[in-house]
Amino acid sequence: MTVARHGANRTSRIAGFHRKSPRERLDLVAAFAGLDAATVDHLADMGNLSPQLADKMIENVVGTLNVPVGVATNMKVDGEDVLVPMATEESSVVAAVCNAARQNHDTGFTTSVSGTLMIAQVQAVGIADPHAARLRLLEKRDEIRAICDGCDPLLVKLGGGFRDLEVRILDTRGGPMVITHLIVDTRDAMGANAVNTMAEKIAPHVANWTGGRVFLRILSNLADRRLARARAVWTLDAIGGADVRDGIIGAYHFAAADPYRAATHNKGIMNGISAVVLATGNDTRAVEAGAHAYAARDGRYGSLTHYEIDSDGDLVGSIELPLAVGLIGGATRIHPTAQACLKILGVTTAERLARIIAAVGLAQNFSALKALATVGIQSGHMALHAQNIAIMAGAIGDEVDAVARVLVERKAVRIDVAQEVLESIRR
Ligand code: NAD
Repeated sequence: MTVARHGANRTSRIAGFHRKSPRERLDLVAAFAGLDAATVDHLADMGNLSPQLADKMIENVVGTLNVPVGVATNMKVDGEDVLVPMATEESSVVAAVCNAARQNHDTGFTTSVSGTLMIAQVQAVGIADPHAARLRLLEKRDEIRAICDGCDPLLVKLGGGFRDLEVRILDTRGGPMVITHLIVDTRDAMGANAVNTMAEKIAPHVANWTGGRVFLRILSNLADRRLARARAVWTLDAIGGADVRDGIIGAYHFAAADPYRAATHNKGIMNGISAVVLATGNDTRAVEAGAHAYAARDGRYGSLTHYEIDSDGDLVGSIELPLAVGLIGGATRIHPTAQACLKILGVTTAERLARIIAAVGLAQNFSALKALATVGIQSGHMALHAQNIAIMAGAIGDEVDAVARVLVERKAVRIDVAQEVLESIRR
């Protein structure tokens, strides 16, 4: 076997790496990268995720990365108070949700969902008569239903399964393609594995019925049959007057008109959304892909939220986006921290989880826009960022707050200043 060594002859070709234990792999990596003992010990400590479990979740595991889990307070969703665990490495994200929700706790957030339907796509090419082929497929709807439902009797027993069939003809650079959409209710599962299995099962039949060749068979992350929505009212008294309201609306108009701004606007929304998605062991990339694709559904990338003035003159915010999240499957079921977070949330259905996540996205966006339209985000951000800078400068214990305070006072949140302040404190 090739042994990786630090130095000129090191090689990334490590035979049988995947068959080793996490500790054995770590030793090989340490030799390759010349890691010191402290770094190896740090990586070997997997915290509250057991090495055996981590090793089953992904391939070639050598360690874990701890991300803080914070809990957002003040949230009321559909009349029920809820504490929301959020996993994120970014400061201010949890505070932003707490702040927004504090300003509308009397009424909270009202939510709805369009359903729990996922779409799987089957791509067929090289078809002589795509329009007739489309109809041939639609005629097979009952047969397709039976094949799909036959893949997952448990899902059917739980009230899910095949719901609908769509067939689209796409005009592509490579000629016409016939794209079959299987629309499947995946209930409390995110549903990727469930619908991918169905797409693969149906594929040879599609090839047969269309007379073409089938290539891709996979879900679409543009889960626009699985929309979650939330709306909320912030009164003028709660937010500090009409100027603040108008600033927020102006910020929204900016995002709605300009993709450069909309990207940042939606990134802020995803700060909140991805943090809850991650905390519950769901797939952040799937949700992010769906959100951004949905934001561009009209042909131009725009805002995922809307703001208006209601008949009382108060600020009304709303959000709508695809939220393919589940309580079953993926990391959700097996990661103990995800399970603990679901217990904190008290959710028993994927639908309720999606509703809460949509509300968090709106709360996050409200706070960001309010700060941007008034004092700016840097004052809040910098207070927390200053603590990180203090830690980077070497501050420990009480020194962290002491150094951070001075950095904020001096309006100079920089590592060189932090080092200087730390030295003067220690002198
Ligand atoms: P899964 O297949 O593990 O679980 C779903 C299955 O659980 C169902 O098919 C059903 O038989 C069963 N089940 C038990 N109780 C259920 C209930 N109450 N409701 C619904 N089903 C229930 O998981 P999944 O949700 O199909 O797949 C999610 C995983 O797939 C995630 O880890 C995701 O990262 C991954 N994935 C994502 C993509 C993508 O987004 N493009 C692609 C491939 C895989």
